[in-house]
Amino acid sequence: MKLTQFWKDSRPALGLLTGEGTVDVSAEAARRGVSAPATALEAVQGGQAARAVLEELSRNAQCFVPAGAPAAPVITGMDKVLCIGLNYRRHAMECNLPIPERPVLFNKFPSTLSACGDTILLQKGYVEYDYEAELVVVMGREARHVSEAEAMDYVYGYTCGNDVSTRDLQFARGNQWVLSKSLEGFGPIGPCLVTGDALDGSHLDISCAVNGEVRQSSNTSDLIFSIPQLIADLSRHFTLLPGDLIFTGTPAGVMHGYTGEKHWLKAGDRVEVTIQGIGTLWNTFAEEQ
Ligand code: ZN
Repeated sequence: MKLTQFWKDSRPALGLLTGEGTVDVSAEAARRGVSAPATALEAVQGGQAARAVLEELSRNAQCFVPAGAPAAPVITGMDKVLCIGLNYRRHAMECNLPIPERPVLFNKFPSTLSACGDTILLQKGYVEYDYEAELVVVMGREARHVSEAEAMDYVYGYTCGNDVSTRDLQFARGNQWVLSKSLEGFGPIGPCLVTGDALDGSHLDISCAVNGEVRQSSNTSDLIFSIPQLIADLSRHFTLLPGDLIFTGTPAGVMHGYTGEKHWLKAGDRVEVTIQGIGTLWNTFAEEQ
């Protein structure tokens, strides 16, 4: 199943991707006189019961999201957006940093998230804007002290993410990862949320292209710390909640690690993050006025 969200009456509303189009879940549920999750977070929190309702609504639907309706982030309102640094060997090497022995953790804010197709604003005063293609895990159940063996039972699904980063801000103040990576809109996710039964997150091609030029190309099987290892480690330290996101780290090829003349992201650039089985998350960039 593939979920998405779009803006409806200034709120994120749930959409369901089908062969016929994107079902407007609340409109379709109203037409049938049934209750259904209104948002992706409600769909995740609703577990199997919500899942069954959505599967039913996806059949013979008549209410579709109009073409051109603006996309919202594929899930919103979660408690935590966690991010793993240096989780691909060649990326750690291009950053001249040691291969971590334990997961390196930082975070973005839920309000940092943006949608596929959004224009992301580059703030004045910084120039070293960079991209990071990442597989994003969406948690499905409350997880605390979960073992690696059972960790995948707690995953709801996956989406693509771009961990947009501001390198001059990151390093000028002594490795301020949160500040560098949490500017407004610097967490685009999308274009859809694919449920875990439809996709094996451990073997997915992942790439990033800037203005059509491929800059990153790898596979999630190259992760240093696998998804079960990450969930086991994180849930040992705090409780993961349904809808929480884990940006799992980026492969080699970011501009920061490029040894030639660096071309940082600038106004007018288009960045595409593509992950096998999920699709392409794209965004354009513009100067903040
Ligand atoms: Zn990252």
